[in-house]
Amino acid sequence: MSHADAPSILPLARRRWLQHLPYLSLALFLAAITALVWLTREYDDDAQRATLISDVLWMEQNLRFNLDRNEIHLQEIGPELLAAPAPSAQTEARLASLLTHERGLARILWLSPEGHVLGAMPPLTPAPVAHDASADAAAAPVDESSLQLARGIGRAVYGPAHPAPGGAHHFEVHVPVWSDEAQVGMVVGVYSLSDVVMRELPWWFSERYHVAVLDSDGRRLAAKSKVAPLSPRLSYSMPFDPPGHGLTLQIAAYRSETRWIPLLLGASIVLLAGIIVWSVMQLRRQLARRQQAEVALRAESAFRKAMEDSMLTGMRARDLDGRLTYVNSAFCRMTGFSADELLGLKAPMPYWDPERIEQTYALHREILAGGSSADGTEVRLRRKNGDVLDVLVFEAPLIDAAGRHAGWMGSVLDITEQKRAREHALQQEERLQQSSRLITMGEMASTLAHELNQPLAAIASYTSGCINRLQDEAPLDRAELLDVHQRIARQAQRAGEIIRRVHDFVRRSEPKREALDLAAVIRDAIGLIEADARKRGMRIRSELADGLPQVPADAVMIEQIVVNLVRNAMDSMRDTPPPERTVAVRTAREGRFVTVTVADRGAGIPAETAARLFEPFFTTKQEGMGMGLNICRTIAELHRGRLAFESRPGGGTIFTLSLPVDADLE
Ligand code: ADP
Repeated sequence: MSHADAPSILPLARRRWLQHLPYLSLALFLAAITALVWLTREYDDDAQRATLISDVLWMEQNLRFNLDRNEIHLQEIGPELLAAPAPSAQTEARLASLLTHERGLARILWLSPEGHVLGAMPPLTPAPVAHDASADAAAAPVDESSLQLARGIGRAVYGPAHPAPGGAHHFEVHVPVWSDEAQVGMVVGVYSLSDVVMRELPWWFSERYHVAVLDSDGRRLAAKSKVAPLSPRLSYSMPFDPPGHGLTLQIAAYRSETRWIPLLLGASIVLLAGIIVWSVMQLRRQLARRQQAEVALRAESAFRKAMEDSMLTGMRARDLDGRLTYVNSAFCRMTGFSADELLGLKAPMPYWDPERIEQTYALHREILAGGSSADGTEVRLRRKNGDVLDVLVFEAPLIDAAGRHAGWMGSVLDITEQKRAREHALQQEERLQQSSRLITMGEMASTLAHELNQPLAAIASYTSGCINRLQDEAPLDRAELLDVHQRIARQAQRAGEIIRRVHDFVRRSEPKREALDLAAVIRDAIGLIEADARKRGMRIRSELADGLPQVPADAVMIEQIVVNLVRNAMDSMRDTPPPERTVAVRTAREGRFVTVTVADRGAGIPAETAARLFEPFFTTKQEGMGMGLNICRTIAELHRGRLAFESRPGGGTIFTLSLPVDADLE
């Protein structure tokens, strides 16, 4: 792992940890809330249990108190009952008050010390004839063993519960009756188990609790029941003593009412926790999306930065006031100033050429007013080190994301080198032009020599003819002499004309164009070289078309071309069999051109020669100068015409001079 990676990994781990923190704290929060709810319930249960126990104790106290009170009453009423054979009205009233349901006593019996029933209230039903169980019970209405015990110990004794008619259960209390330290009998109170337990209870107790009396086998002997199911968690059993004998009291709280507030609170806590989890998840998802976007953005901006940095074109942005708001590294490299030095600056910029401040200002204003031209604007600047910096600036409006024109964006190309090279090339070209002018001068000089050769040779030949005549003894023919001299004069004139033309040409003057009858010019030209042709055993055949339009051209120049072409044609036919040594000169009309073709049966032109034919000084002849065709083509082009060649079918070459009919006269 490189050192560069280390800082990026640490925050990542921390970030991951931070991501889990909300879940962790949420889980802890939920655990705390659950614990709180549980503890509250426990506390609640404990409180309820404590209430239950205290209520049960209260009930037990109450029962005991009731039984004790009844015992005392029975003890008190005992002597009265046993004293008389039948109870007095007052005693009966007392008995009746004891036998209310509230007290739980179903019957009171009084017995002799021997155990015989002396009386009962309500009275016992007479024994039926049959001896069934209930009759036995009626015959022996009291529990003998309890009676014995009570008699023996001289204190009240409670008997076991036993079934009574009507499905109820009864138990008895045997209270010995004393009179003057002697036991005089026994009063037995028969309790209805359900009455004693149930009637005794206040309403609120029976509302709150289910009370049942169970025997030692767990059978339910009496119960005060509301139908609601019992909450097994909140129940309490205790021995029911007295009467004892394995009886137990079972007290169970009714299911408490659903307590809505804690339930709703709990539910809303769960709901809120759910919402928190959901929103944390949403937040995380959004965060992840944002992180992704951030990563993409970072990659994008890194790419852009790399692109900007690696760009060779300088970029700089300015706001609408002309203040620099951005420069890329290429621009900084170009100017030598750092971005910090440049940002925020206004014109004049430090990279402006101090010698051209005014010009640069004008350009600057122009650019700010409407951008640069599509071809860019050339500006000369100075680098920080003072070097000249020529740039081409392309300015375009900077439109921000909201579509507003926020400034100007300029791409700046360093063209210092190109400009230097261009200037250098320009200088070179100038020098070249100078030297080429010199070459042209040389060419002209040789042309002059070449062209003058003709008339001078003619003059020389005429003069030598005259000299021969003059040396002859024969009389002179004046007319002939005159003709020869006229010819000499014409040749001299022609030589003068050539010199003048060449002179004009050197001065780069245009050809002297006038409407020409090409046939006449060609005839003149042929006239000039006919003698030479004859001398070389060659013929010049002319086929001049009738009715050709006049051509705006310089007669001497055209004549020069024709003479040149015919001479070249004759030169090419040196090795041609004599009968074929004919140069054909024809004129014709071809569209807007009048053409002059010069055809020979010469050696033809091989490809390598053809490519260089019009080059100055290119020749294949010993005595040649190689200027003829070059000059001819220049003349043709001066007349906006053309000079071309092709090979002639059957051998030889055809040169074609085309001259436009409609070229402007001057
Ligand atoms: P020069 O006649 O002095 O050689 P030109 O420029 O007139 O110069 O001709 C250049 C060359 O072109 C000639 O040397 C010759 O080889 C070739 N040439 C010109 N005309 C013809 C022609 N009609 N047939 C064959 N070759 C020709």
